[in-house]
Amino acid sequence: MTVLDTANAASLMDRFGRVHTDLRVSITDRCSLSCSYCVPPGGLPLMPVGTLLTVEEIERLVRIAVGMGVTKVRITGGEPLVRADVVNIVSRLAQLAPRPELCLTTNGVGLSRLARPLEDAGLNRVNISLDTLDALAYLRLTGLDRLGDVLAGIEEAMRRDFTQVKLNAVALKGLTEEAGPALLEYALARGLELRFIEQMPLGGGQWHSSNIMTADDLLSLLSQHHELTPIPRCDSMPATRYLVDSGPGIVGVIPSVTRPFCGDCSRVRLTSDGQIRACLFSDDAQDVRGLVRSGADDAQIENALRQAIWAKRPGHTIGSQSFQPPSRIMKAIGG
Ligand code: SAM
Repeated sequence: MTVLDTANAASLMDRFGRVHTDLRVSITDRCSLSCSYCVPPGGLPLMPVGTLLTVEEIERLVRIAVGMGVTKVRITGGEPLVRADVVNIVSRLAQLAPRPELCLTTNGVGLSRLARPLEDAGLNRVNISLDTLDALAYLRLTGLDRLGDVLAGIEEAMRRDFTQVKLNAVALKGLTEEAGPALLEYALARGLELRFIEQMPLGGGQWHSSNIMTADDLLSLLSQHHELTPIPRCDSMPATRYLVDSGPGIVGVIPSVTRPFCGDCSRVRLTSDGQIRACLFSDDAQDVRGLVRSGADDAQIENALRQAIWAKRPGHTIGSQSFQPPSRIMKAIGG
């Protein structure tokens, strides 16, 4: 047995003692929107359809990961709701034993139609991405006039019996100064937790740390409107959370760039074309689709998962001279 085999045979533990319990499964690189911070102008070629994992392949890979200690599975993309068999995927994963908690990250465009079938299939939690409530700003940012559909999707998700519905917004200079406070009022009025994410260099275009709206910028902006009281952090949660005006409303800030939480990272990603990536910012990957399609047994796939985790670096180096963004944009990795 190698050091790798003995150290983390049972669980997905890396060289730094981080145990990976949170699997993000991208089911497509397609998206219904083209947000300017996510997709470079002109777009990028899409993966050939035959390279995307099938429902059976996703189910098998997630089953193996669950057997290695994964307890939470987040379905993402691209936009997961554009995949025609998304409900079937959720339903199959809901039948795994032990059953992982099933979460979904969506832009909300197809949610008013799909929230109920997804709930019936066993989905537990939904995160909806929304950066502005202004229809024109939404159109400029995403390329499509779909704000009304997203708002209808949020209302429908709230009517369902999910254990949690959250909103995610990317903090963007030039937009969030106006949009942020309005989004927070919208979320507070509905009892939804809103989390702002610092913009990361994952959009294939121009990005510089001096051009982002930082968590500190955001907190001073929101503090002009509300009293924010920090809530002590728990486990590997990336967001720093604040009670708004003594609660019960909560707002979160995810300072991925300025205060990275790599030391507590418990996430691993399965891309829609079957790569295991242990870090969003690294091109290090294990090709499990190749293994699956060449007839590998479960033990070989487990080994590939362990290797991906073992190779994980201590942290991303965004902001340093040596930082190179990954070759894939966020939507081709899985957000
Ligand atoms: N389409 C789904 C959605 O919109 O939620 C799931 C995939 S999307 C890539 C997941 C999340 O990543 C979204 O909240 C999106 O806003 C965020 N995102 C995309 N590019 C980003 C970037 N460069 N920096 C920070 N967040 C980003």
